[in-house]
Amino acid sequence: MKFDKQAIRDVLTVAKRLDVKGVLSAYEGNISVLKDGLVYITPSGKNKAFLTEKDIAILDMNGNQVGGRYPASSEYKLHLHAYQVRPDVFGVVHAHPGYLTAFALCGKPVECDAYPEILAVYNKIEVAAYGRPGTDDIYAGVAPILEKENIFLLENHGAVTVGSTVFEAMNLIETAESSARIVALANQIGTPKYLPQEELNDLYAIHEKRMGR
Ligand code: 13P
Ligand code: ZN
Repeated sequence: MKFDKQAIRDVLTVAKRLDVKGVLSAYEGNISVLKDGLVYITPSGKNKAFLTEKDIAILDMNGNQVGGRYPASSEYKLHLHAYQVRPDVFGVVHAHPGYLTAFALCGKPVECDAYPEILAVYNKIEVAAYGRPGTDDIYAGVAPILEKENIFLLENHGAVTVGSTVFEAMNLIETAESSARIVALANQIGTPKYLPQEELNDLYAIHEKRMGR
């Protein structure tokens, strides 16, 4: 079977960058790319810093492993589900970044009407109901949120981003972790000064235009 070298390289590039940024680690998080009906995904339980091209697992859309020398991520079903629910998605990142995951453990969405820059990326990061990691349950409650959002939290677990490329999904999780950190810090320091609804409406419109939506 012929595999796509660029898809393998893209998974490696994103895995290594997010490792350096502290967004994922050996036992936390996984990255995938969908290319020509095959899913290229990080192997389970391996340190992302040392991954090579041979280590990336390759699955068909039924979850059968057709390439790679190590078993695929234990969360491969979550990735397959994202590609099935969203035909526009070709890259998925799942990670446990500190602040986003702290919100997920508390079952709290990330939102802040005091921080307009957050609107450039999302209005609110919603929480999908808990499902046991590595099982079919993990994605049971995901579809209603995933149908309309490119980012969401997995209750008691972590975060997921999707994009038309894996680089988009990477950018989104980095930005979201930064926003979650700012919102958490602001709430510790004092009471965020919320902006009036008219101002927020205008900002939504400006950002929607800027993002080409
Ligand atoms: P894998 O190492 O199997 O990808 O699992 C990491 C993880 O985040 C489990 O939820
Ligand atoms: Zn996880």
